[in-house]
Amino acid sequence: MQNKVRIVLVNTSHPGNIGGAARAMKNMGLADLYLVAPKVYPSEEAVSRASGATDILDQAVVVETLEEAIADCQLVIGTSARERHIPWPLVDPRQAADMVYEESLETAFVFGREDRGLTNEELQRCHYHVHIPSVETFSSLNLAAAVQVIAYELRMKSLLMKDAPVVSPKWDVPAATSEQMDHLLAHLEEVLTKTEFLDPKVPRKVMTRFRRLYQRAQLDQQEMGMLRGMLTSVEKQIK
Ligand code: SAH
Repeated sequence: MQNKVRIVLVNTSHPGNIGGAARAMKNMGLADLYLVAPKVYPSEEAVSRASGATDILDQAVVVETLEEAIADCQLVIGTSARERHIPWPLVDPRQAADMVYEESLETAFVFGREDRGLTNEELQRCHYHVHIPSVETFSSLNLAAAVQVIAYELRMKSLLMKDAPVVSPKWDVPAATSEQMDHLLAHLEEVLTKTEFLDPKVPRKVMTRFRRLYQRAQLDQQEMGMLRGMLTSVEKQIK
């Protein structure tokens, strides 16, 4: 199967970790690196730690926001060293690798900052969270080491799948992208504010829960269009 996996590093502080991640990726046959607002980049230290994986660094896409890095992705998996507040679908690295190869979707694995990981908002943009099952009392891996573990599991899965028969896609319509999901949620928020289901003065976690619901439903592009059409029809009636 074609490899559609990108590694996204958010707001990395130490360029050495970017180089280390590039090396880990190249070792395991991954090529697409996205850097969201890296603190120091380009950097000699990144090149030195990449030790030969400079092609990955040269081709790395540098963007300002996570939204841009994952706009066209259909499956987004966020990595986290610890459990977070609102429960979210959680898998281990092996289950994540299985999903990637069974679904054949444009996929992103998102990694956080060395000092404080990913923000809640960033984690909420992910369909799944993946936790490397480290010991609870010392759970946080070095960033490049975490990339290595995920890349290794993807590699193992790709080796297993090499001789597997090619199966046709499970679904007839392509899965919705992250950008389409953002548009749907913005539209929903607008309409629900107009209908007074939402009170902007009392922002509870409603929109977060709508995001979780729609992401869990794994909408395809046709279903996405239907939901947008439904909202537009409600807007027309309000006018
Ligand atoms: N103090 C931060 C840890 C950041 S470690 C926190 O508590 O969130 C830097 C990044 O490495 C994390 O954002 C995550 O992307 C990855 N990482 C480290 N340990 C991990 C683990 N056990 N499981 C999954 N990802 C991990």
